[in-house]
Amino acid sequence: MVDLHCHTKHSDGTWNTVQLLQQAERKGITLLSITDHDTLESYFDLFGMDYSQYYSGEILVGCEFAAVFNGIRIELLGYSFDLFVVQKWLDDFYRRVEKKKSFCEEYDQLLALCKKHNVAVDAGDMINPSIEYPIAAIHRNIKQHPQNRHLFDRASWVSQEVFFRNCTCNVNFPLHLECSTQVPKAEDIADVIREAGGFVFLAHAFAYSLSDYNAFLNQIADARGIDGLEVYCSKHSTSQANYLSNFCRKRGLLVSGGSDCHGMKNPSRKLGTGFGGLCVNEKEIMAWAGQRNSDQYKVHN
Ligand SMILES: [Zn+2]
Repeated sequence: MVDLHCHTKHSDGTWNTVQLLQQAERKGITLLSITDHDTLESYFDLFGMDYSQYYSGEILVGCEFAAVFNGIRIELLGYSFDLFVVQKWLDDFYRRVEKKKSFCEEYDQLLALCKKHNVAVDAGDMINPSIEYPIAAIHRNIKQHPQNRHLFDRASWVSQEVFFRNCTCNVNFPLHLECSTQVPKAEDIADVIREAGGFVFLAHAFAYSLSDYNAFLNQIADARGIDGLEVYCSKHSTSQANYLSNFCRKRGLLVSGGSDCHGMKNPSRKLGTGFGGLCVNEKEIMAWAGQRNSDQYKVHN
């Protein structure tokens, strides 16, 4: 079983790196990529550790990058790249102190948007940028005011993730946040990953609030913002996965897939199997991951 999309405590998952490896072993995963948001800390945990006592499969270096393409906030998944080159680039883009500062700025922008559009919020309810994302903080703040309930659809009210996609990333929603200065351009990330020897994929294509998916996918492929698509994903229906698979075939793009497991944050989305029906096609993954010289894509213990 293959899973190329999951998170640890280094971003917004609940397991540490070892706990994630133990879960992967229990699930019988043979090829795993840990794809924390904008950090490779999990891989640095593995250096000097005999992780074979926890996990017997292979590990493909990976990361999930926040990106902007044509003004739309998306995520890219990069794999099989030189860890040090990409971490240095991430450090330069998001200097640690600056990242906290940008989280506070983003939260302030969200508070201002709420006030402007008569969404009740407590201005004194501050974000703790060391432990939470601005979206999590504003969603928590909004939900503390029941009078806001009628302003949001049920899914956005309940789920922070849906709120992020349908509200703050949606250009047609009043709380849309312009984030182009805080997030790198997709084309820039793609260049960095390729120069570091890796491949870049669009994560969960159907998770975004887009009016024309086909046009968007063609535009990002034309701009060389991606080498492939995350076809197999917990968030995609079978027909959506089939559509993406056909799109990859037509455009000569690579295929990737994974659960997007965040540990116990969303316990029904499980490592390897997603909500139950996920089945990443190992042959399609190995078509590109297997070409790599093992020294280039494995983290050795
Ligand atoms: Zn993810």
